[in-house]
Amino acid sequence: MKTHKNIALVAHDNRKKDLMEWVRWNVETLIPHHLICTGTTGRLIEETIHEQLLKTGKETTIHISKLKSGPLGGDQQMGAFIADGKVDFMIFFWDPMMPQPHDVDVKALLRIAVLYNIPTACNRSTADFMISSPLMNEAYERTIKDFSDYLNRDIS
Ligand code: PGA
Repeated sequence: MKTHKNIALVAHDNRKKDLMEWVRWNVETLIPHHLICTGTTGRLIEETIHEQLLKTGKETTIHISKLKSGPLGGDQQMGAFIADGKVDFMIFFWDPMMPQPHDVDVKALLRIAVLYNIPTACNRSTADFMISSPLMNEAYERTIKDFSDYLNRDIS
């Protein structure tokens, strides 16, 4: 993981307000990084960052990739990004009070993040701890389990 990070950001509808508040608060820290978002979350983040930049009169390019909307395959695309090593950490504000039409995708995304040892924040305080970590400004080598025994297992 380099000093310039690929940060995944996803929020369910009831948590989008929380995430936008967090983004507003951390806009300066987030701007140098590449943000990868599910569709609607990404659109709102883009608007939020632009609003903040307008207020401060700063002109900065933001690096943001928007995938499909979560329920339309965006969570699965994010999972594929993780499996391909394209995500360094993830902020995923999922809704603990409401079942989602794509619950299986949500579970799959959380599973793949654990499998690849991706730092993952599912609530504001964890996100605060993560973004204020000294490791944000350093290169960090994530350990990934050696799956060769699994890959070479005897199938016969
Ligand atoms: P959305 O998807 O950003 O397109 O709303 C979020 C999710 O994964 O549910």
